[in-house]
Amino acid sequence: MDNRLEEIISSFQKVSGKITLLTGAGISAESGLPTFRGKDGYWKLGSKEYRPEEMATMRMFRQAPYEVWYWYLYRRSIYGNAEPNQGHTAIAELERIYQNSFTLITQNVDGLHLKGGNSPERTFQIHGNINFMRCLNNCSNKLIPIPKDIFYTDRDGQISEEDKERLVCPDCGSITRPHILWFDESYNEQFYRFETSIKTASETDLLIVVGTSGGTTLPIHIGSIVTNRGGYIIDINLEENRFSDMAKAASKGCALRGKSGDILPKIAELLSK
Ligand code: NAD
Ligand code: ZN
Repeated sequence: MDNRLEEIISSFQKVSGKITLLTGAGISAESGLPTFRGKDGYWKLGSKEYRPEEMATMRMFRQAPYEVWYWYLYRRSIYGNAEPNQGHTAIAELERIYQNSFTLITQNVDGLHLKGGNSPERTFQIHGNINFMRCLNNCSNKLIPIPKDIFYTDRDGQISEEDKERLVCPDCGSITRPHILWFDESYNEQFYRFETSIKTASETDLLIVVGTSGGTTLPIHIGSIVTNRGGYIIDINLEENRFSDMAKAASKGCALRGKSGDILPKIAELLSK
């Protein structure tokens, strides 16, 4: 593989520092889950098509709660059938090697990292998890598992009255919401590990960024914190993106073009030596 990569990995191994993985929708693409790009990203409501940036908002939920809920329940039904791929498995292997020096920060809401063997303690799901809901009124911080049999695989369907009655808070009876950070909401510690992610970045010696275009603020901030303090950065992506620019500009960076399922196992092997 790339000489630059080997150089970075062997220098990192000499300092025996902390390693952080930062992942996005691209790592789950090889498990068959669409990213938000292309035709899969659009969603039809009535006669209009909406982008995820419009659907995934509190604004849209207030206007059309069960339509937004349906969009999540439909995606969740597809995600539920997916299996982790070699990229997820390699990241789980890195946690086994590095243990307390390892952190995974993921923008994915599909839960595949946990299914692939990463621990909930060391996995920060900074945009939430599609398998959980919580009270819209915030009467408690409880994350409630969405019942497994609420299952919709038809793109054009709607939620049954019976299921609507199950999407309620057990404590106050309010409607629940998906446990997802929406585009018109802010990060916080309580649900999304915001401060802990920043602290982790400030202690990271090697950041490996996988399959993200860099369109959200916290991931970009994490990349800047690590590179500003002189940490190593490796970007893995099919395309150029904001992190590959960051990696190329950094004195200790490298950008790898290719599929995460091919590249990550090789990196995990180098890091295990
Ligand atoms: P994005 O859709 O903006 O970008 C995906 C990136 O992955 C692109 O840069 C693309 O080139 C790259 N990519 C695609 N296939 C790849 C592969 N096999 N190997 C390596 N790279 C590959 O995704 P994002 O940056 O994560 O931002 C989108 C937002 O959408 C996030 O907030 C996330 O929560 C949400 N989202 C999550 C899922 C999921 O949980 N699986 C799916 C879609 C969207
Ligand atoms: Zn409640």
